[in-house]
Amino acid sequence: MNINIVDPLNAEMVSAALGFPSPFRIEVLDTCESTSTLLLDRAHKDGRSDSVVVCERQSAGRGRRGRSWLSAPGDSLTFSLLWRFPAGMPPPTGLSLAAGVAVARALEGMEAAGVRLKWPNDILADGAKLGGILVETVSSGGRHTAVIGIGLNVRLPREIADAIDTEAGALVSVMPYAPSRNLLLANLLKAMAAMLDEFEHTGFAGFVEEWLARNAHAGQLVSIHAEGVPPVEGRCVGVDADGALLLDTATGVRRIVSGEVSLRKK
Ligand code: ATP
Repeated sequence: MNINIVDPLNAEMVSAALGFPSPFRIEVLDTCESTSTLLLDRAHKDGRSDSVVVCERQSAGRGRRGRSWLSAPGDSLTFSLLWRFPAGMPPPTGLSLAAGVAVARALEGMEAAGVRLKWPNDILADGAKLGGILVETVSSGGRHTAVIGIGLNVRLPREIADAIDTEAGALVSVMPYAPSRNLLLANLLKAMAAMLDEFEHTGFAGFVEEWLARNAHAGQLVSIHAEGVPPVEGRCVGVDADGALLLDTATGVRRIVSGEVSLRKK
C-alpha cells in the first residue's frame, strides 16, 4: 500500500491526463522485479502493443549490461512500454536515442531546465544523471517489438545517491515546482506516442538534429570503454543516422555502436 506516498501512482489519473481514447493501457503495480523484465516476458508471448507498466517498488530494476537501476517509492518514476513495430520495418536502431529526445521534449514541456542527453541512454542536467533509458528488442517473424524502460529521479533520497557510483540528480532540482508523477508519466507517454509515430516513418534519422542540440558532450574529449579492450579516445563530433556515436580520433572519425560500451568524459 502507498500509505506514506503523497503523490500515489494512479492509472485513471494518467489515462485522464492522456485524454480519451488513451493511446496506452496503463497498469500500476506496487511491487515487481522490473517493469522491463515483466513486459519482455509479455513481448515473447502476445502482450499488447500499447501496454505500459509503472511500478512503485522494483526489487531488481535494470540498466544496461546487468547494471542496477535504483529507485525509491514515491520519489522515482519507473515504467516500461511495450511497442510492436509494423511488420517489414527494419530493426529499430537508434530507438534509445530517439526515446531520449522524447523524454527531453516532455521534461522541457514541464519547464525542466538544461536537460541534456548522454550517448547512448542517459538523461542529464547540470552534469548529473536524472534518468536512464533501457531499450530491449525482441524480433520474430520479421516483426520487431521494443520494450522501452525509463527510470527518472523525481527526488533523490540520500540512500539512493550514496549507493550510486555516478553523479545523480533529480528533477526537482531543475524544475520550478515538484511535478505530479501521474502528470509527468502522462506527458512522457504523450511524447513517447509522438516519437514512436515519427520513428516509424523516419527512423532515428528524423531525430538526429534534436538529439545533437541536447548532446551533453558535444565537441568534448571523451573516452569509450568496453570490457577487455583498451579505451578509445576522441572528440565527440556527432551521431549517425542509426544512432552510432561519431568520434574524431587520432586515426580519423570512428563510428561507435552502443551495445557494450560506456562513454566517459576525459
Ligand atoms: P553509463 O552511461 O554510465 O555507461 P550505463 O548506461 O551502463 O551507464 P545505465 O544502464 O544507464 O548504465 O544505468 C545503470 C547505472 O546507472 C548504474 O550502474 C548506476 O551507476 C546508475 N544508476 C542506478 N540508479 C540510478 C539512479 N536512480 N539515478 C542515477 N543513476 C543511477
